[in-house]
Amino acid sequence: MDKAQKGPRTEQAVVEAVERIYLSLEAELLQTPDKCKACGKCCDFESFGHKLYITTPELLYFRAVLAKNKIPILPMKTGVCPYCKDGKCSVYPWRFAGCRIFNCTGNADLQGELSEKMIRRMKQICLQESLSYRYLDLKTALNQAAAE
Ligand code: SF4
Ligand code: SF4
Repeated sequence: MDKAQKGPRTEQAVVEAVERIYLSLEAELLQTPDKCKACGKCCDFESFGHKLYITTPELLYFRAVLAKNKIPILPMKTGVCPYCKDGKCSVYPWRFAGCRIFNCTGNADLQGELSEKMIRRMKQICLQESLSYRYLDLKTALNQAAAE
């Protein structure tokens, strides 16, 4: 896994860069009329028929901030995100870009545009920090990270 190969300076640079992307994404989402009700139903991917993919910098960021907050990386053993507790996201401030962008009642074209923009920016971080870019479904990413 990339994190293991990266020193603290690179990790900190990636954490800060991902944080900036999430902040600007949140600012863009505030401008959209469709608001997610945060009901947590789409975090049950199997029953909702939803998929979530995450990028290398996001996983590195997620691991770093969870470690800082003494929260373990949990494997995903079912079709439900392991951080969904009683229908609420227990890692809400650090959730992935896809969690932020997806809105079941929102404009799919706009969400597609936001996703593509986010991916371009994550790839840019990989180039700058010499990280290999990967785009993994959440289950694979969490299970690999939890096994390390
Ligand atoms: S990280 Fe949070 S918002 Fe994203 S899928 Fe998991 S529980 Fe849902
Ligand atoms: S996108 Fe829809 S299903 Fe998912 S949390 Fe928001 S309102 Fe609930």
